[in-house]
Amino acid sequence: MFSYDDYREIIRAIKDSKKGMKYPDAYGKDEFAIMRHDVEYSIERAYELSLVETEMDFSSTWFFQFTNNTYNPFSRTTMECIHKMRDNGHTIGLHYALDGETDMEVVRGRIPKQLEIMSYMLGFEINQFSIHRPPSEALAANFKYTGIFNAYQDDFFTYAEGVTDSTPLNVKYMSDANHIWRYGYPTRENIMNNKKVQILTHPFAWCEHGYDNHDNYVTLVKEKYAETIHSINDECKDFKEYLDEFLDARIDLNISG
Ligand SMILES: [Zn+2]
Repeated sequence: MFSYDDYREIIRAIKDSKKGMKYPDAYGKDEFAIMRHDVEYSIERAYELSLVETEMDFSSTWFFQFTNNTYNPFSRTTMECIHKMRDNGHTIGLHYALDGETDMEVVRGRIPKQLEIMSYMLGFEINQFSIHRPPSEALAANFKYTGIFNAYQDDFFTYAEGVTDSTPLNVKYMSDANHIWRYGYPTRENIMNNKKVQILTHPFAWCEHGYDNHDNYVTLVKEKYAETIHSINDECKDFKEYLDEFLDARIDLNISG
């Protein structure tokens, strides 16, 4: 699981179901299969996964954070990635982090403000969002705004307590959190046999090879490490003399296989 080939299988199933849609088109429909991505840790991996979809003549919705510590969606290189994704037909949205805020009325006010900031920085309108690690109060709040789509509003997501794989819900929701498919794997049957489907994947979990959870983290950390030392090297002339030492240090993390 979690290789690009596995991913292609899911996309093929969505395409064959003929109900692959994004939020604005799915709104008010009786049947849909939405593919959504919450981008954590690595824009590079999100970009690579988006190319897998593009090769298959498919596009989906990608939610980016701008208050996390591991990537910056407004840096020049990542903005280029995001613009290329948009040029390839993908929809870009906000992955909103509550950052400890517990008052849902405060959150309700902040979300449109963050959408405005993101729209301003990226240079095009962002009117869709998903919430990062939503507590039950944020799901129960069912945030709705005119002209804005919330991945967790009740049109696209059914909020209920104690859900298992077999709980019948208006919208079938499948998520790959922590390399475990909660609420079922997006098999052809699960996509075909449920009228309304929303699938969430986290692009950092997916790569060409398809690693297990441990090795996926190892490769992810190595990629981020390499990116950090190359970024420093690009900026600081005095770093060059240490570069080899830092490049060598990368091999200390091994893939267990
Ligand atoms: Zn998240």
